[in-house]
Amino acid sequence: MKAAILHASASSLLIEDVPCPVVTPGHTLLRVLACGVCRTDLHIFERDLPTMRDPLIPGHQIVGEVIDGATKELPLGSRAGVSWIGGIDGTCPFCKRSEENLCDALSFTGYTIDGGYAEYALVRSDFAYPLPDNVAPQHLAPLLCAGIIGFRSLRVAETRPGERVGLFGFGASASLAIQVLRHWGCEVYVSTRGEQHQHQAQQLGAVWVGSEIDKPPVALDCAVTFAPAGAVVIAALSSLRKGGIVAINAIHLDQMPAFDYDKLLWGERQIRSVANMTRQDARDFLTLAQEIGIRPHVRTFPLDQANNALQAVKHETADGPVVILP
Ligand SMILES: [Zn+2]
Ligand SMILES: [Zn+2]
Repeated sequence: MKAAILHASASSLLIEDVPCPVVTPGHTLLRVLACGVCRTDLHIFERDLPTMRDPLIPGHQIVGEVIDGATKELPLGSRAGVSWIGGIDGTCPFCKRSEENLCDALSFTGYTIDGGYAEYALVRSDFAYPLPDNVAPQHLAPLLCAGIIGFRSLRVAETRPGERVGLFGFGASASLAIQVLRHWGCEVYVSTRGEQHQHQAQQLGAVWVGSEIDKPPVALDCAVTFAPAGAVVIAALSSLRKGGIVAINAIHLDQMPAFDYDKLLWGERQIRSVANMTRQDARDFLTLAQEIGIRPHVRTFPLDQANNALQAVKHETADGPVVILP
């Protein structure tokens, strides 16, 4: 099969012919129909995250067709989706507490195990989710990480229907989260850099839009930060009402600046990080996205232009999420 491969010593992905994976017990073989490109892929590519597998096929927003290793839930020929969490051990203290997103021995799709920048992908059957086949695969791919983890961020921030919610940074994840918030009748305040993102936030129903670290004109019930910058977290924190929560949706943050405890955190305000996702988050969000009819506007690249796809994410040149089509 053809795959875009990251070698530890190389500065770009190489398009190579490699053996197609063979199905093993507990696994399902997918013919990849689309694979979303996430900012985390860029962190892996640029070694902001340590190398875990060499060589590696990146990609953790996989939409595929089941061609071998079918299960009752995933019959042959059906659509399946795979996200960032590719497996857990099921035995560690966190798994026993039903906190599988914090498992001590997580497998990460497209990071510790091969992902979806390829024609085929072998995945754990119990970490693949049924997807509808009446939606184009490229519209489903961004839901699988940007969407699910954005949704988990809203849960971590304890967002309730009708509340005033701040989104700081407005990339792929936020542009999906805002659609859930609007569905819940929330008032959404968006602070983001770039006219394009500000315009998009307005179009998707934000009641107020400001630049990167602008403070919304009202006190927020909760906020989610998407920009990988500590200064943005502080801007979000300073926008909260007493008892409000800011959830940080970033796997990597530059650094947290010092801040004034008395003014910003006192009053039971909270800062929380969002780590990974659970299968329940995935199932709940994918059901909700189908109900709302979320169809992200995407930019697609063929597999042999995977490097260009990564650059489009890096330089934010695409108008919406980036998706690779094999
Ligand atoms: Zn991701
Ligand atoms: Zn575990």
